[in-house]
Amino acid sequence: MSDRHEFEFIPGIEPHDQAWNAASGGPRGRCFAFAGADMVVLGSADESPQIPSWDDLYGWSIRVIRYQYLGLLSGEPCWSVELEPEVRVPDVARLTGLRTLYDGLSESHYAIAGRAAQIVAWDRDHQHCGRCGKPTERVIGERGRRCASCDLTAYPRVSPAIIVLIERDDRILLARGRAFAPRRFGIIAGFVEPGESLEDAVRREVSEEVGIELGGIDYFGSQPWPFPHGIMIGFRASYLSGEITLGDGELVEAGWYGRDDLPEIPAKLSIARRLIDDWAGRRAFVIDQP
Ligand SMILES: [Zn+2]
Repeated sequence: MSDRHEFEFIPGIEPHDQAWNAASGGPRGRCFAFAGADMVVLGSADESPQIPSWDDLYGWSIRVIRYQYLGLLSGEPCWSVELEPEVRVPDVARLTGLRTLYDGLSESHYAIAGRAAQIVAWDRDHQHCGRCGKPTERVIGERGRRCASCDLTAYPRVSPAIIVLIERDDRILLARGRAFAPRRFGIIAGFVEPGESLEDAVRREVSEEVGIELGGIDYFGSQPWPFPHGIMIGFRASYLSGEITLGDGELVEAGWYGRDDLPEIPAKLSIARRLIDDWAGRRAFVIDQP
């Protein structure tokens, strides 16, 4: 991950003239193309991944199910593309999950890939109306699909989840979920429920999962989380009272950890790691983990 803010991305919905190939009339530019949850990149597994162009896709003669315009990155049109789940790509390319691309793609390409994954999934899943089942149509000028029969319009869904680093003296609360790799710890997170504020969700999740009460809660930052359509909203909180009691079965282990006994923590991809690195930074040390 290198070129932070090196490129400028201007999101768009309706492609303008330069997004089309004057000769063929088809789209031109970069393709963030997905087969199921995997994205197509150029290069073998030990080469740094590149984003293919429409010319690449045309050359491979693979079937494109749908495509959507995403915007301009440094003047180059970018598109999301849905391929058949079982598509085979030639040896110059490969299919790979978004998580594993974090270290290889530039920050701007990774961000667009996350956006593309969500738009592909939304478009695929809203070809028919969720209320009456009739086919939907694209709404011109909006990222929406409208049912011609009952007028219901579906927009891409974003599901907010909170994530919170809890500090107690010079230690933090780390927990291991049921689905985690052995020895890998994370921090408390959970989806926001209808009717809740973000702060309500932080206090509820912490109370439900580890049975403690929080003092102050501060907003830290947020991160789109396209697995499949989340946004993680990060907080720092101080411990107030209670002892750790595992609650609703999501966690198998939780405890207070400090500089000298940190277990394996989330990789740098995640806002969880940014929160933990921020905590370490305020204590003037650096965590030596990938
Ligand atoms: Zn309908």
